Amino acid sequence: MDFLPFTRPSIDEATIAGVAEVLRSGWITTGPKCRELEARLSERYGGRPVRLAASATGALEYALRVAGVGPGDEVITTPLSWVATANVVLTVGAQPVFVDVDRRTRNIDLDHVERAIGAKTRAIMPVDLAGLPVDRDRLYEIARRHSLRVIEDAAQAMGSRWADREIGSTGDLVALSFHANKNFTTAEGGCLVLNTEADARLFEKLRLQGVTRLADGEMDVDIVGYKHNLTDVAAAIGLGQLPHLDAFNRRRAELAARYFDRIDPALGLELPLPDDPGGPGRSNWHMFQPLLPLSRLSLARGEFIEAMKTRGIGIGVHYPAMHRFTLYRRMGWKDGDFPNAEAIGASTVTLPLFPAMRDADVDRVCQALSEVIEPALRNRTA
Ligand SMILES: *Cc1c(COP(=O)(O)O)cnc(C)c1O
Repeated sequence: MDFLPFTRPSIDEATIAGVAEVLRSGWITTGPKCRELEARLSERYGGRPVRLAASATGALEYALRVAGVGPGDEVITTPLSWVATANVVLTVGAQPVFVDVDRRTRNIDLDHVERAIGAKTRAIMPVDLAGLPVDRDRLYEIARRHSLRVIEDAAQAMGSRWADREIGSTGDLVALSFHANKNFTTAEGGCLVLNTEADARLFEKLRLQGVTRLADGEMDVDIVGYKHNLTDVAAAIGLGQLPHLDAFNRRRAELAARYFDRIDPALGLELPLPDDPGGPGRSNWHMFQPLLPLSRLSLARGEFIEAMKTRGIGIGVHYPAMHRFTLYRRMGWKDGDFPNAEAIGASTVTLPLFPAMRDADVDRVCQALSEVIEPALRNRTA
């Protein structure tokens, strides 16, 4: 039986032809395809300026710089994310301030955010983990009341919605990732949705050596810039993906619904929050992540992953709580600081979920879950 990975991008023949066209064109780095993708994304996000970068990590770093966050400033964020979220705060010389997540949503707990706000706080950086959106109404109410910037790490949230708004179409600075594992991909890449053309110009300078092109063919450099521009080869992949994004996300939602329906409740897995039909949040189902009932199992997480692998099923881990990494321990964080993030980070597993999956693949995963977990549960109670 074929190995079922936890994710796989869907790239159609038209996209491959679009990439080949760029490769034959003689212009393969930043050019017309990047400008076209920026224009398409801007349309999607209500006409707001959008600028591409070679990764969401780069987009987040420049978002902090555009917002004027630097040495002496604090940025409140979640410890339960890909480590890029906090790394970029350090990169610009500011201090990340972690607060614990909500046990149910697994996203940053906005009560904790409010309590952590102090004189040095400049920004909040929320993450929509697995695509489940943070409460945007409450988030921006807090930000306005304390005059804080919001840098949305919406890397996983392309196509997620809060109320009648797609993530990215409102808010302050919003970064999206186009990494191969995300719901929309350019292999590697990302973008920032900004508020003003002036900020977009600053972003352009930051991503390419601080250069301003002048009308007479001259150039000037007035700030330190870096090198984080996207290529037209990558943008062509994105242009091929964009018409399919909504269908991809609908298929993801169907597959997630099937997991909810088919996972045996007796296994004791703690499932993610389903989309609440009455509530305003809509996940793009970037990932489907149950928590293993480890205290009731005779299996460690690594052994569970191995057992699934022998059944031809790929399982991911997204993510261990990042304050427990050596770099962050050295800065003073320790076990016990964020009990929810630690408990989730220690027991989370990512099941296969990608648009090309068939219903039968979900059933196969559910079957393997039962085969692996049931005997492990019995052993523990025997
Ligand atoms: C993927 C991801 C990033 C980084 O995106 P890249 O495009 O790989 O740099 C940042 N934050 C979160 C939450 C992510 O999932």
